[in-house]
Amino acid sequence: MAQPMTSTATRLELEPAPFDFHGGMRLDTGEPAPPGSIKTIHMPDRLYIELQPGDRPCVRIGTHVLTHQRLTDGDVPSHAPTSGRITDIALRPSIAPTPGQVPNLTLEVDGLDEAMVLDAIADPAGHAPADLIDRIRDAGITGMGGAGFPTHRKLEEARRSGVDTLIVNAAECEPGVRADTSLLVADADSVVQGASAVAAIVGARRCLVGIEPHNADAIAALRAALAARGSDEVRWHCYGLPERYPAGSERSLIRSLTGIQLRPGERPSAQGLICFNVATLHALARALYFGEPLTRRVLSVSGEGALDPGDHWAFIGQPIREFRADPRFQTVHGGPLAGWPVGDEAAVAKTTFCLHFRQRATLSEDPCIRCQRCADVCPEPLYPERLLRHSRTLNVDGLQRDGLDHCVECGACDTVCPSRIPLLATFREAKSSLAAATQSTARAVEARARSRLHETRESARQRATAASRQARLRRRRATHDGP
Ligand code: SF4
Ligand code: SF4
Repeated sequence: MAQPMTSTATRLELEPAPFDFHGGMRLDTGEPAPPGSIKTIHMPDRLYIELQPGDRPCVRIGTHVLTHQRLTDGDVPSHAPTSGRITDIALRPSIAPTPGQVPNLTLEVDGLDEAMVLDAIADPAGHAPADLIDRIRDAGITGMGGAGFPTHRKLEEARRSGVDTLIVNAAECEPGVRADTSLLVADADSVVQGASAVAAIVGARRCLVGIEPHNADAIAALRAALAARGSDEVRWHCYGLPERYPAGSERSLIRSLTGIQLRPGERPSAQGLICFNVATLHALARALYFGEPLTRRVLSVSGEGALDPGDHWAFIGQPIREFRADPRFQTVHGGPLAGWPVGDEAAVAKTTFCLHFRQRATLSEDPCIRCQRCADVCPEPLYPERLLRHSRTLNVDGLQRDGLDHCVECGACDTVCPSRIPLLATFREAKSSLAAATQSTARAVEARARSRLHETRESARQRATAASRQARLRRRRATHDGP
């Protein structure tokens, strides 16, 4: 039903979230640091652009590229963050939680930052949703909060399902991470523009913002951006989330703002919702209104081993080691709770919202004492201790029965475990082993089906040959015997 057009600015008062999510934990991280200004990019010598499965490079070794020039064709293309020359296409360590090598383009930076002029729009109202979605795909926009799901596919799915509510995830997913808050303070106008474009594309009439109540600067910036925008057909509401980890995980956020508990594996669009984080909305607005593909992002740099702690603009492909003070520290991709260790050669990806540099663990784990603290904090809710037993023996039935698939990989269980058991890493390993086993079963089933098809074709061919031989013989006999 159409909503009356009203001023958005007067309605953006912070209200407490109407619902609460299961489990979670309060973190004693002290007073949160206020968002500082975002530090500018330090121009690196080389960038390493990771190719996604199905990507085809559209440049060669030796090609000189301009800033924003397309480097790959595929579902989500990559673009040059700055100008320079492509000097290599080689395997390098992936940023993914499961160690492995993936093809990367090496871009030797020339320091000139000569940019291509790209097409931008003034107002989404003058464009069909399909055109806007194409522009978003061509700009290489993906979810920037962790999973990296292609944004154009999420929008297409939402249009198919019918969505009436846009949820803006303005909560920081981990303690010590301030990247989205700093981005909101610095450029809330673009975030609001991005949200309005998404609402126009999917037909949402309501926008719910979830944010930690202590982020007063970000709330003020959002309010000012909405006031500057004036009247809008979208009703905006701003909710202060429960101050427990993981309030910013998509499923917990949806539960807190709408009371809806998504079923395991259920997408928000099945409930008439679409959810975007601040960084993705910002990138989407820059793509539509300024013609800028996704080639840089804001990330938080934290931990004892950080060279310059704080929020930084970084190029996609920037070597991670440039942010570390000392190689003795372990590099964690993502926040301190749900992040995972990566090697020295890894580079910033579109999903890198935080780099955390910490001391390497020296204490080994103790046996599980069945205290169930892990179950108390699990937001899903699961029994991590049971999942641990099944994961270590790769008990597929047990893992399925106890819901390994439902684990959102928040790491809350790890944090409270008194025995220092690396639960999250064990679950990730088990998930990846199960996925590999499923893939190999699927390949075996496919091979058996191909072999059956081949046998069926072969026996049909043999029957056809025998039938035609019989027919020839009959004709020959008939000719021989005469009338
Ligand atoms: S918190 Fe650790 S020790 Fe306690 S039940 Fe869970 S896995 Fe076992
Ligand atoms: S990592 Fe998984 S099992 Fe552990 S608390 Fe989070 S959702 Fe639960």
